[in-house]
Amino acid sequence: MGRDEVASDIADAIERLGRFIRSRGYACDLNPAQWEALRYLGRCNRFSNNPSALASFLNATKGTVSQTLSSLERKGLLSKVPRPGHGRSLSLMLTDQGRALLDQDPQQALEAVAGELGPDVDRLAGHLGDLLAEYQMHFGIRSFGKCRTCRYFDDRISDGNTCRCELLGAQIEKSETRQICAEHTPRGASGFS
Ligand code: SF4
Repeated sequence: MGRDEVASDIADAIERLGRFIRSRGYACDLNPAQWEALRYLGRCNRFSNNPSALASFLNATKGTVSQTLSSLERKGLLSKVPRPGHGRSLSLMLTDQGRALLDQDPQQALEAVAGELGPDVDRLAGHLGDLLAEYQMHFGIRSFGKCRTCRYFDDRISDGNTCRCELLGAQIEKSETRQICAEHTPRGASGFS
Protein backbone atom coordinates (compact mmCIF):
# COMPACT_ATOMS: atom_id res chain seq x y z
CA MET A 1 0.00 0.00 0.00
CA GLY A 2 1.41 3.42 -0.96
CA ARG A 3 1.95 6.24 1.52
CA ASP A 4 -0.91 8.28 0.04
CA GLU A 5 -3.31 5.39 0.51
CA VAL A 6 -2.11 4.82 4.08
CA ALA A 7 -2.54 8.52 4.86
CA SER A 8 -6.03 8.45 3.38
CA ASP A 9 -6.96 5.37 5.46
CA ILE A 10 -5.70 7.08 8.63
CA ALA A 11 -7.74 10.21 7.92
CA ASP A 12 -10.86 8.12 7.17
CA ALA A 13 -10.49 6.08 10.36
CA ILE A 14 -10.09 9.16 12.54
CA GLU A 15 -13.01 10.91 10.86
CA ARG A 16 -15.29 7.88 11.37
CA LEU A 17 -14.16 7.39 14.96
CA GLY A 18 -14.87 11.05 15.67
CA ARG A 19 -18.36 10.74 14.22
CA PHE A 20 -19.16 7.60 16.24
CA ILE A 21 -17.82 9.12 19.45
CA ARG A 22 -19.86 12.26 18.94
CA SER A 23 -23.03 10.27 18.22
CA ARG A 24 -22.62 8.50 21.57
CA GLY A 25 -22.31 11.84 23.36
CA TYR A 26 -26.03 12.07 24.15
CA ALA A 27 -26.00 10.50 27.58
CA CYS A 28 -27.04 11.48 31.10
CA ASP A 29 -29.11 14.36 29.73
CA LEU A 30 -26.03 16.03 28.17
CA ASN A 31 -25.14 16.68 24.53
CA PRO A 32 -21.68 16.15 22.95
CA ALA A 33 -20.60 19.79 23.42
CA GLN A 34 -21.55 19.68 27.11
CA TRP A 35 -19.58 16.45 27.57
CA GLU A 36 -16.56 17.99 25.84
CA ALA A 37 -16.67 21.00 28.17
CA LEU A 38 -17.13 18.83 31.25
CA ARG A 39 -14.26 16.56 30.18
CA TYR A 40 -11.97 19.53 29.52
CA LEU A 41 -12.68 21.06 32.93
CA GLY A 42 -11.96 17.71 34.55
CA ARG A 43 -8.52 17.58 32.92
CA CYS A 44 -7.22 21.16 32.73
CA ASN A 45 -5.02 23.00 35.21
CA ARG A 46 -5.87 26.11 37.22
CA PHE A 47 -4.43 28.42 34.53
CA SER A 48 -6.76 27.02 31.89
CA ASN A 49 -10.20 26.71 33.51
CA ASN A 50 -11.72 29.81 31.91
CA PRO A 51 -14.20 30.36 29.05
CA SER A 52 -11.59 31.72 26.64
CA ALA A 53 -9.27 28.71 27.00
CA LEU A 54 -12.23 26.35 26.70
CA ALA A 55 -13.36 28.07 23.47
CA SER A 56 -9.84 27.69 22.09
CA PHE A 57 -9.66 24.01 23.08
CA LEU A 58 -13.02 23.24 21.48
CA ASN A 59 -12.31 25.47 18.47
CA ALA A 60 -15.70 27.05 19.16
CA THR A 61 -16.95 30.62 19.34
CA LYS A 62 -17.22 32.33 22.72
CA GLY A 63 -21.00 32.62 22.21
CA THR A 64 -21.39 28.87 21.68
CA VAL A 65 -19.22 28.11 24.69
CA SER A 66 -21.17 30.58 26.79
CA GLN A 67 -24.42 28.73 26.01
CA THR A 68 -22.82 25.38 26.87
CA LEU A 69 -21.50 26.72 30.17
CA SER A 70 -24.87 28.21 31.09
CA SER A 71 -26.53 24.83 30.50
CA LEU A 72 -23.97 23.04 32.69
CA GLU A 73 -24.38 25.68 35.38
CA ARG A 74 -28.19 25.30 35.34
CA LYS A 75 -27.77 21.53 35.76
CA GLY A 76 -25.60 22.14 38.82
CA LEU A 77 -22.47 20.65 37.20
CA LEU A 78 -20.22 23.72 37.35
CA SER A 79 -19.97 27.09 39.02
CA LYS A 80 -18.31 30.33 37.90
CA VAL A 81 -16.12 32.07 40.45
CA PRO A 82 -14.07 35.30 40.16
CA ARG A 83 -10.41 34.81 39.17
CA PRO A 84 -8.24 36.55 41.74
CA GLY A 85 -5.97 39.15 40.09
CA HIS A 86 -7.70 38.90 36.69
CA GLY A 87 -10.26 41.69 36.81
CA ARG A 88 -13.71 40.47 35.77
CA SER A 89 -12.43 37.10 34.49
CA LEU A 90 -14.07 33.95 35.76
CA SER A 91 -12.77 30.53 36.71
CA LEU A 92 -14.93 27.53 35.89
CA MET A 93 -15.10 25.00 38.70
CA LEU A 94 -16.75 21.60 38.42
CA THR A 95 -19.10 20.89 41.30
CA ASP A 96 -18.97 17.56 43.13
CA GLN A 97 -21.93 16.53 40.98
CA GLY A 98 -20.03 17.47 37.82
CA ARG A 99 -16.94 15.49 38.86
CA ALA A 100 -19.07 12.50 39.76
CA LEU A 101 -20.77 12.59 36.36
CA LEU A 102 -17.40 12.15 34.64
CA ASP A 103 -17.49 8.55 35.91
CA GLN A 104 -20.27 8.02 33.36
CA ASP A 105 -18.45 9.71 30.49
CA PRO A 106 -19.49 7.90 27.27
CA GLN A 107 -15.91 8.28 26.02
CA GLN A 108 -14.93 5.56 28.49
CA ALA A 109 -16.30 3.07 25.95
CA LEU A 110 -13.53 4.12 23.54
CA GLU A 111 -10.91 3.91 26.30
CA ALA A 112 -12.08 0.37 27.09
CA VAL A 113 -11.73 -0.70 23.45
CA ALA A 114 -8.31 0.98 23.19
CA GLY A 115 -7.21 -0.87 26.31
CA GLU A 116 -7.92 -4.19 24.58
CA LEU A 117 -5.67 -3.52 21.58
CA GLY A 118 -2.78 -5.50 22.98
CA PRO A 119 0.94 -4.78 23.36
CA ASP A 120 1.16 -2.40 20.37
CA VAL A 121 -1.18 0.09 22.03
CA ASP A 122 1.79 2.12 23.38
CA ARG A 123 3.14 2.59 19.86
CA LEU A 124 -0.30 3.56 18.59
CA ALA A 125 -0.61 6.16 21.36
CA GLY A 126 2.79 7.56 20.40
CA HIS A 127 1.92 7.75 16.70
CA LEU A 128 -1.45 9.38 17.38
CA GLY A 129 0.26 11.90 19.66
CA ASP A 130 2.79 12.68 16.91
CA LEU A 131 -0.01 13.09 14.36
CA LEU A 132 -1.90 15.45 16.64
CA ALA A 133 1.24 17.50 17.36
CA GLU A 134 2.08 17.78 13.65
CA TYR A 135 -1.46 18.85 12.81
CA GLN A 136 -1.48 21.48 15.56
CA MET A 137 1.91 22.81 14.48
CA HIS A 138 0.85 22.93 10.82
CA PHE A 139 -2.28 24.98 11.52
CA GLY A 140 -0.95 27.02 14.45
CA ILE A 141 -3.38 25.46 16.90
CA ARG A 142 -2.60 25.58 20.61
CA SER A 143 -1.23 22.27 21.83
CA PHE A 144 -2.97 21.96 25.23
CA GLY A 145 -0.27 19.56 26.38
CA LYS A 146 1.11 18.79 29.82
CA CYS A 147 4.04 20.28 31.72
CA ARG A 148 6.48 17.44 30.99
CA THR A 149 6.60 18.36 27.29
CA CYS A 150 6.49 22.16 27.76
CA ARG A 151 9.49 24.38 27.11
CA TYR A 152 8.66 26.43 30.22
CA PHE A 153 8.66 23.49 32.62
CA ASP A 154 11.59 23.43 35.02
CA ASP A 155 11.81 20.39 37.26
CA ARG A 156 15.35 21.25 38.42
CA ILE A 157 13.82 23.58 40.97
CA SER A 158 11.97 20.90 42.84
CA ASP A 159 11.43 20.15 46.49
CA GLY A 160 10.03 16.73 45.71
CA ASN A 161 6.42 17.85 45.47
CA THR A 162 6.58 21.00 43.37
CA CYS A 163 8.30 22.16 40.17
CA ARG A 164 8.31 25.56 38.50
CA CYS A 165 6.64 27.14 35.47
CA GLU A 166 9.01 29.74 34.00
CA LEU A 167 6.27 31.31 31.87
CA LEU A 168 3.79 31.95 34.67
CA GLY A 169 6.32 32.25 37.48
CA ALA A 170 4.35 29.73 39.50
CA GLN A 171 5.07 26.68 41.59
CA ILE A 172 3.49 23.58 40.04
CA GLU A 173 2.35 20.69 42.20
CA LYS A 174 3.41 17.27 40.93
CA SER A 175 -0.25 16.32 40.47
CA GLU A 176 -0.77 19.43 38.29
CA THR A 177 1.91 18.31 35.83
CA ARG A 178 -0.56 15.64 34.62
CA GLN A 179 -3.19 18.24 33.71
CA ILE A 180 -3.53 19.90 30.31
CA CYS A 181 -2.60 23.58 29.99
CA ALA A 182 -3.75 26.36 27.65
CA GLU A 183 -0.28 27.94 27.86
CA HIS A 184 1.60 24.75 26.97
CA THR A 185 4.32 25.36 24.39
CA PRO A 186 6.03 22.32 22.88
CA ARG A 187 9.79 22.24 23.20
CA GLY A 188 11.32 23.68 20.04
CA ALA A 189 8.25 25.78 19.26
CA SER A 190 8.16 29.55 19.62
CA GLY A 191 4.66 29.57 21.12
CA PHE A 192 1.18 30.40 19.90
CA SER A 193 -0.60 33.67 20.28
S1 SF4 B 1 5.13 24.64 32.40
FE1 SF4 B 1 3.99 24.92 30.49
S2 SF4 B 1 2.32 23.43 30.62
FE2 SF4 B 1 3.13 23.70 32.71
S3 SF4 B 1 1.89 25.33 33.64
FE3 SF4 B 1 3.66 26.32 32.70
S4 SF4 B 1 3.00 26.92 30.64
FE4 SF4 B 1 1.54 25.39 31.43
